[in-house]
Amino acid sequence: MIKGIITAILFSIFTFLTGFAQSDDSVMIKRLTDEILLNGKAMQNLYTLCKSVGTRLSGSAGMYKAEAWGLQVLKEAGAEKAYLQQCMVPHWVRGKKEYAGYQTKKRSEDPSFDVLAIGNSVGTGDKGVLANVIEVKNFEELLQRKAEVKGKIVFYNYPFNKTLLRGAYGDAVRYRSSGASMAAKYGALAVIVRSVTGAYDDNPHTGALRYNDSFPKIPALAISTKGADKLSSLIKGAYKDENLFIRSNCEMLADTIGHNVIGELTGTEFPDEIITIGGHLDSWDQGEGASDDGTGIVQSIEILRVFKTIGYKPKRTIRIVLFANEENGLRGGNKYADEAKLKKEKHVMAMESDGGAEYPRGFGCGMTKEQYAKVMGWTKFFEPFDAAKFAFSEGGGGGADIGPLQTAFKTAQFGLSTTGQRYFDMHHSALDVFEKVNAQELNLCVVVMASMVYLVDKYGL
Ligand SMILES: [Zn+2]
Repeated sequence: MIKGIITAILFSIFTFLTGFAQSDDSVMIKRLTDEILLNGKAMQNLYTLCKSVGTRLSGSAGMYKAEAWGLQVLKEAGAEKAYLQQCMVPHWVRGKKEYAGYQTKKRSEDPSFDVLAIGNSVGTGDKGVLANVIEVKNFEELLQRKAEVKGKIVFYNYPFNKTLLRGAYGDAVRYRSSGASMAAKYGALAVIVRSVTGAYDDNPHTGALRYNDSFPKIPALAISTKGADKLSSLIKGAYKDENLFIRSNCEMLADTIGHNVIGELTGTEFPDEIITIGGHLDSWDQGEGASDDGTGIVQSIEILRVFKTIGYKPKRTIRIVLFANEENGLRGGNKYADEAKLKKEKHVMAMESDGGAEYPRGFGCGMTKEQYAKVMGWTKFFEPFDAAKFAFSEGGGGGADIGPLQTAFKTAQFGLSTTGQRYFDMHHSALDVFEKVNAQELNLCVVVMASMVYLVDKYGL
């Protein structure tokens, strides 16, 4: 009987306390939401990153400018510590404008195409490559027709499969990343790859390739989607037996020094437990690197600013990391995890935003079942985002830069996911500019990121 009464009393105390704690959390989340939506600095920071710094490929002058910018902005946002973490980065340069076109002079005008060298690719040099083009739909067709490939330019015309929704990029990107070596294996002289995008226009989209050291390194170009269709129809018609001339002057120089840029708020109760939040500071050399990944950078910095501004003192150490060299090497993410291992740091969670800043839709959650169950208990705090559609998807990847941290420590990962239906239209192309980013959407992403960071910081995982 007495035991029953004690249990009842304890239960009421527990209900009272948890009820109180929840309302306390709602108040805090409301405060940070208001600060972000009414006084947010993310858009302003994105503007200076895009317009004053611009593109910032690893090893470029823009990279060093971006590092200085990042350090300054982290300090202004209220970082208690702000510092650089050195790492060696690849230094690939594009050289002068690429060319791909027919020069037969048999007609009044020979066609040319909108192309960009694929990152990390070797160039053709000024002498270029003049060869017949063989079009293949996919690797299976390449294999079937391998006897025809020698001495030719292989043209991968693999379409972005829109029915895969957000999976289309992952499906198509293999032709850009490994198509060159696959074709070199059968004696191809160069490759042209249909841009990995669902947009139909004249903008080529670059990105990285990785050579397989077992085969010769051959030049690789990305062609715009309209250009791909034009080339495809020409080589089936009037230009069937003609040779295409391509030229690129890109080259890989020696590795150079780059840095992760880091800003911290030291934890008040568990300073040794680290929460990492970041995006990648480097970008391709087209457009302004606004959505890839300027938005992830300014969102991450904004979380620190907001905590500082509303006077929230995190229990755990909040570390904002502007990662170096995600695009063509991942040296920043690897260095960060290596240093953490060396110092035996304790990493409780990591969050990355590297998918643009469209309307937030949830998080990919790479963590244990128990951690995931705890996160699911917080859905109520995301109700303004329509909890029914706001998903914490189990087992989702966090992001490229924080991947090495998970490998090293099994750190719980959160990857911001958004509606993501415009991102690949501009990704790695001249269209990735500040003007394509919507301020309210950018800030709403910060709201969900900051809310989740607050909850993990307060309750642990
Ligand atoms: Zn990115």
